[in-house]
Amino acid sequence: MRADVPGAWTVMDILKWTAGYFKSKGIERGRLDAELLLADTLGLDRVGLYLHFDRPLEERELDAFRARVSRRGKREPLQYILGQTEFWSLPFRVAPGVLIPRPETELLVEESLKRIAGPVHILDAGTGSGILAVTLAREMPESRVDAIDLSREAVALAAENAARNGVSERIRIDICDFQRLAGGPYDLIVSNPPYIAEGDLPTLMPEVGQFEPKLALDGGRDGLDSCRELIRQSPEKLCPGGWLLLEIGVGQADSVRELMEEAGLREVFVRDDYAGIPRVVGGRKMEDDHGEFLHPKG
Ligand code: GLN
Repeated sequence: MRADVPGAWTVMDILKWTAGYFKSKGIERGRLDAELLLADTLGLDRVGLYLHFDRPLEERELDAFRARVSRRGKREPLQYILGQTEFWSLPFRVAPGVLIPRPETELLVEESLKRIAGPVHILDAGTGSGILAVTLAREMPESRVDAIDLSREAVALAAENAARNGVSERIRIDICDFQRLAGGPYDLIVSNPPYIAEGDLPTLMPEVGQFEPKLALDGGRDGLDSCRELIRQSPEKLCPGGWLLLEIGVGQADSVRELMEEAGLREVFVRDDYAGIPRVVGGRKMEDDHGEFLHPKG
């Protein structure tokens, strides 16, 4: 379609139409999603879109965009349609086999970096797209990271993301169950485990409940199955002085704190996310009840 053809869709027209369509489908930030989808389809960024508001769309661009709009209209997450996202300002490929990175998971990185440094050995349990393993490896250039996941698809994507971010040599990625943690001991075990209580799964937004992998979400009866397992094994898998840091869901902080204390972890802390929800719980393996830890890093 050409600009001089009456009725040609311009960037401005199609954005307006798509934002309205998304709104009618119950999508919250419909205008933003429309812009991001259109910019990606046209090979522009959002500023580029604004600079080309009057640009007419060619037929094949319109077809490609329509197909993507239709997927989003069915509430498929934007990130799966784009095939990538950012975490900690780094690029990550994502696909329906892995959970989409959430901004609050960056708190796990922040809390990790506050606590360890130097030539540390790290485990990322349930790595998914590899965001925690890759980010920690990049932020700590002397570290070595083991990343495990039960999902073959996740392990493949994590490997791809490690390569893309230039840290493949320091990350070992394996298919493995939380019940069979093999390596270690670790200076840090970090995990964003599945933590949604199974009874809450039907209440999740369609983007999450219908499209993201149940394996990455379903934490069993009270959501804490994986947390319990990691906490149970951590005294054995951590170096003295090493930390276990877990992302948790709404209302789980007290239970997880208690589980850590019962397991003998010390210096247990809780960090709220920016919405004021307790989101990270951490604890440390100490040498003994009174002693100093043996293994200071950095
Ligand atoms: N934060 C995700 C959600 O609320 C859940 C992630 C998880 O279970 N680890 O949808």
